[in-house]
Amino acid sequence: MRTKLANKKVLKNAQNILTNYKLCDSCLGRIFAKIETNMTNKKRGEILRFGLGNFEKIKVKDCWLCQGLIGEIKHFANLIKENLKGYEFETFLIGSKVDEDILEKENQIYAFAGSEYSESIKTELNREIGKLLEKKLTQEVNFEKPTIMAVIDTAFDVVTLQIASLYVYGRYKKYSREIPQTKWYCKICYGKGCKKCNYTGKIYDSSIQERISKTFLFYAQGEDDSFHGCGREDVDVRMLGNGRPFVLEIKNPKVRSLDLNKIATEINKINKSFVEVDSLRFSNHLEIERLKSAEFKKTYRATVKFDKIINNEKLKKATECLHDSKIGQLTPSRVAHRRADMVREKHIYYCKVESVDGSKAVFTLEAESGTYIKELVSGDNGRTKPSISEIMKIPCKVEKLDVIEIKGE
Ligand SMILES: [Zn+2]
Ligand SMILES: [Zn+2]
Repeated sequence: MRTKLANKKVLKNAQNILTNYKLCDSCLGRIFAKIETNMTNKKRGEILRFGLGNFEKIKVKDCWLCQGLIGEIKHFANLIKENLKGYEFETFLIGSKVDEDILEKENQIYAFAGSEYSESIKTELNREIGKLLEKKLTQEVNFEKPTIMAVIDTAFDVVTLQIASLYVYGRYKKYSREIPQTKWYCKICYGKGCKKCNYTGKIYDSSIQERISKTFLFYAQGEDDSFHGCGREDVDVRMLGNGRPFVLEIKNPKVRSLDLNKIATEINKINKSFVEVDSLRFSNHLEIERLKSAEFKKTYRATVKFDKIINNEKLKKATECLHDSKIGQLTPSRVAHRRADMVREKHIYYCKVESVDGSKAVFTLEAESGTYIKELVSGDNGRTKPSISEIMKIPCKVEKLDVIEIKGE
């Protein structure tokens, strides 16, 4: 037979191994795995044993190294197939856990015969189970980014699935001044439930996240979710106009081929007057990074209440002063406990008065990403300079605030 396995050095080594260890064909062939790569370890072992002539065949269950493990590939493949039932996926990858005892014996053989051409028993198991499953299923093995990674614990016949999250991009509008963007856990019990939070574990009953993810989790049969917004608005601020971009991550989904139009319609129907979603499409984890680092200009509508009746001339001056200007903002006192205290310079692109009524005025403002609008109005005791309050020389504060456009996406 014309094969690189017929090499004298290789045969000598194989003879040495078989003289000292009772190995099945697969375990023998595996030590020379990289010599002839277009065949299985079993075939390789058969050729070597045949070439040597004087060694009896060892049954897999009597093999000193694998103790029958290599004969269970079909069984493991079936077990994994059973566990994958009900999951929708495009690609998969097999992983395996093997007894310490067998791995130690493997090392012992390598120390004896050298591991130059060898591969590990785990590699063989993973590959051969994968090959069998590719035949049984319509999906393919993928090493880079499998949809599902199935790990078989060979000692206990237990399969663990690691399922890739499903990501959906969209934009949301929020019509309520009473719901936060994400789940807001109770500060006392951290979500466990206590008297203070009425055993809900949360400060607010609901959130944009929960209102959107509920329908997704139902259809995807997912276990949990993470919500990644492109920034966030305060609880009492509405998000109108073209909505805010977000990526919803659905964890451990069973169904991946979701009808996004149907889901959007359903979310919008259930959450009327609270939340609306549109522009849904499938996404990936890279988009989360993109949204987190994006700096989009935002347009706001602010209803401002002054302590006195407003003088129109003064108001006009104030808006002219802020129009296309730079302001300096020290971290607002209300968030100073969780953000570094520093001055941030922000660009106000425009500032316009929409209407005036006694001591109230409605402004439209366009500002750089990250501008604190409430503080731009009130001045936050001199922490934002200049401010509408400072220019007008009248204390004032935002009564209602809406984001009416997020630009640049
Ligand atoms: Zn064996
Ligand atoms: Zn609580």
